[in-house]
Amino acid sequence: MTLSPIAPALLEWFNANKRILPFRQDPTPYHIWVSEIMLQQTRVSAAIPYYLRFIEELPDIPALAACDPQRLNKLWEGLGYYSRVRNMQKAAQQVCRDYGGQLPADLKALKSLPGIGDYTAGAVASIGFGIPAPAVDGNVLRVFSRLYNDDRDITLPSTKTAYTDWVMEHQPPDKPGPYNEALMELGALVCLPGGEPLCNRCPLSHLCRAKAAGTQLDLPVKPAPKAKKLQPITLALVKSEAGWLVRQRPRKGLLAGLWEPVLWEERLTKEEAKSRLEGFLAGVEAGEPLPAARHIFTHIQWEMEGWFFTAPALPLPEGYAWADRQALESLYPLPNAFKKYKPLMD
Ligand code: SF4
Repeated sequence: MTLSPIAPALLEWFNANKRILPFRQDPTPYHIWVSEIMLQQTRVSAAIPYYLRFIEELPDIPALAACDPQRLNKLWEGLGYYSRVRNMQKAAQQVCRDYGGQLPADLKALKSLPGIGDYTAGAVASIGFGIPAPAVDGNVLRVFSRLYNDDRDITLPSTKTAYTDWVMEHQPPDKPGPYNEALMELGALVCLPGGEPLCNRCPLSHLCRAKAAGTQLDLPVKPAPKAKKLQPITLALVKSEAGWLVRQRPRKGLLAGLWEPVLWEERLTKEEAKSRLEGFLAGVEAGEPLPAARHIFTHIQWEMEGWFFTAPALPLPEGYAWADRQALESLYPLPNAFKKYKPLMD
């Protein structure tokens, strides 16, 4: 199954074609770490403004360790999967305690930090420190399944282990970072998912076994995604003279600790929603219906409907607040799930 060396052609292509990205201009271990965590669930173009703002406000690990958690959530607002940034802060605090505020130049030590798995540790070690290590993400799995024309299920740990061995067989010990980045870049720009890969622009097409066999579109093999649970949500956008009614979500679970408009995880009528609000707020008046919206989480899909309401600016129970536009912008991180409703709260 040996494949001729891929690194020379791959690295030559990478040097000529790599995208200019902010974290590539100053690839410190911290910058690589932040960018890789952001890019786990977000496209590069969407992540760049977040990355620049994050690094400007939190330029090093001690600053991240000391950041107020609500401010941290605000910096992450829109990126989703907030447990990532909470884990980053825990890891930063551990790094300050155990390693003097600098990420350790050691693969095993990196993997022991909260939120840093095999892939992120490999990326930080190889790109940030120049340590030979694999960094195998979905892009790299796809590229190797095609290069080797291999039809094993890429979601199986045994397949990942086998592909990781192949990745390391080809990795030049003196260029682990550029090699790993080049593989990811090839997957992102040329060996594309969900459609025809651009084999005529691929520096490895002369070696690629899937191209020779015409099986590129059949690879990689992975099981069909499971259907998501549909969750009806009834939403209340309640306005008073003091602003919009928001409340903090529980400290654990989905969107933990973030802020949201009042909602119920069931389908209510307008009268039922009004009566629930009246349980803690006097003088509620119901208004127009809200547009419907959908938000897809990893395992669940919210189907949102609801109404505008008005109410006097009375004192609120603990965990609730009236938020004017400025407070919504700067103080209360509303998750992306409410993207459709945020512009209505002005
Ligand atoms: S030749 Fe095509 S399928 Fe093979 S690695 Fe290149 S882009 Fe992917």
